Amino acid sequence: MGIDFGTDIYEEPIVAKTFLQEDAQESSLRPKTLREYIGQEKAKGNLAVFIEAAKKRQESLDHVLLHGPPGLGKTTLAGIIAQEMGVNIRITSGPAIEKAGDLAALLTNLNENDILFVDEIHRLNRAVEEILYPAMEDYAIDIIIGKGPSANSIRLDLPHFTLIGATTRSGQLSAPLRDRFGVTLRLELYTPDELCRIVTRSAGILGVEIEQDGAMEIARRSRGTPRIANRMLRRVRDFAEVKADGVITRAVADEALHALEIDYLGLDPIDRRVLGAIIENYSGGPVGLETLAATIGEESVTLEDVYEPYLMQLGFLTRTPRGRCVTRKAYEHLGLSVPTGMADGSEQLQFGQ
Ligand code: ADP
Repeated sequence: MGIDFGTDIYEEPIVAKTFLQEDAQESSLRPKTLREYIGQEKAKGNLAVFIEAAKKRQESLDHVLLHGPPGLGKTTLAGIIAQEMGVNIRITSGPAIEKAGDLAALLTNLNENDILFVDEIHRLNRAVEEILYPAMEDYAIDIIIGKGPSANSIRLDLPHFTLIGATTRSGQLSAPLRDRFGVTLRLELYTPDELCRIVTRSAGILGVEIEQDGAMEIARRSRGTPRIANRMLRRVRDFAEVKADGVITRAVADEALHALEIDYLGLDPIDRRVLGAIIENYSGGPVGLETLAATIGEESVTLEDVYEPYLMQLGFLTRTPRGRCVTRKAYEHLGLSVPTGMADGSEQLQFGQ
């Protein structure tokens, strides 16, 4: 095609866990109803039943815990639940609620049947979490008035609300908190077909012309994650506008993503560094998560939440009781010769989570 895509204009990796400037447009791309929400059929099917039942009984929906890697649509789904229930939603996050009083203020300002969405709920501090238990169970909170010997505890009734908690790591939730959710939904990585539909829908909203092949190329490389698919779409659109005639074809998508160092499976330089480090420094593993994170200079949480799920889904990486191991497939993908006597990884996979 002879297009020069060699400029390094973006500094943030597409896979970034953090909120990128370009994500500010995210809300315009968010589906507003269950029907518009693509994929996650199991979660959607269950939710539709719970929502209908709660509406019929004119009650608040049971508390819902959503878990899965970042960018899979947890916040979006919470918004949809509010929309479908016809109630208001207040959005906050675990680290943002610093004191018990902050949570009390949020809860007492809710209306009957409203939704409180707490992102990264596993990061709530202990004191705040303890306020949440009676709030979730009895719709009441105990607040302390005054100090010292004259301090008094009074019980305050709350409206019947629904707590929707989102977490990338349900394992880190304390058991008492986890037990208070009536509904737990696990979101799965999306298939390329589902992502292709998401990319096509987003392109329509952004007013970008995209061919089916172009959408599929982005879908295949967006590691099962709608947020990444949307980010890629915007960056490929920039390339298409500046370097081609504005239409995203397969060739434009391929060249743009190639220039962004995203390979045909969607792996970026950090994924390759993860696999390369295990192979070069630890003979293919096992290596502990912390050691691996230190070796490549990433945070262990980011590795675990953002990079590992996709590498495991591809069958390139396994979690074993002794640490992380790469598989034969990873060697092959990186074009390295597979060590003699290396198993095909299938017996390690049984430990993978
Ligand atoms: P999370 O809260 O899990 O990190 P978000 O709900 O913020 O993820 O979703 C990220 C973006 O991905 C949203 O802006 C939305 O446009 C898109 N998205 C997520 N799930 C879907 C879906 N099922 N269908 C269409 N778009 C989706």
